[in-house]
Amino acid sequence: MIITDTHTHLYSDAFNEDRYDMMQRAFNEGVTRFFIPAIDSTHIDAMLQLEQDYPEYVHLMMGLHPTSVKPETYKDELKGVANWFAKRSFCAVGEIGIDLYWDKSTLNIQQEAFKFQIELAKSYNLPIIIHCRESFDEIFEVLEEVNDDKLFGIFHCFTGTKKQAERAISFNMLLGIGGVVTFKNGKIDQFINEIDLKHIVLETDSPYLAPKPYRGKRNESAYISKVLEKLSALYNKSEDEIAEVTTQNSKAIFKI
Ligand SMILES: [Zn+2]
Repeated sequence: MIITDTHTHLYSDAFNEDRYDMMQRAFNEGVTRFFIPAIDSTHIDAMLQLEQDYPEYVHLMMGLHPTSVKPETYKDELKGVANWFAKRSFCAVGEIGIDLYWDKSTLNIQQEAFKFQIELAKSYNLPIIIHCRESFDEIFEVLEEVNDDKLFGIFHCFTGTKKQAERAISFNMLLGIGGVVTFKNGKIDQFINEIDLKHIVLETDSPYLAPKPYRGKRNESAYISKVLEKLSALYNKSEDEIAEVTTQNSKAIFKI
């Protein structure tokens, strides 16, 4: 069984003490494909180091996270992102999007950064990885504006309603399903099995959003087995089948 974690911040300081052991635990669960979202320039050295340490397994994205879009720095940060794409290849533009939970005052520049990076993705034929927090309407507004046959990607950590799921899919997005599906109040467990598996990929968002029974603790890619277990129950399909289909979906979107 090959499991793909389509969204995991393995370079995070949270793993500085035990990164090697943490990776071994993931390998033991069958997780061998790790897709690594960027945040901002302060994390790039750690991402490159991770890639050097696990070249066959980790695949780096590049992008500016919406919570790192600050009035003083975002223009330079975006320039930096564009420079990286000119220099070498990445598997996706991400994570990008809009976050109104942490800061509503930067909405305008978040939208600007989001659109700029979507255009970057289109010019390199890459998927976008969307971060959406308390911002479904604002995200959909942008997607409506930029929608064409070059737009595709993943709605990472999808936590919306069935309607919002269908709307995301209509923009050529897959839904990234992680720990939230195991939460009692996570809500997506109520309808997710009505969404065809061909639209689903698995993720952890490590070190955040650990699934039950680790909720509230540091998350790691090995815990994706709990997400798999839950989806297996919800879809009434074997874990092997869920792992297989979602890994195929990840191959189709990342072309890796
Ligand atoms: Zn993330």
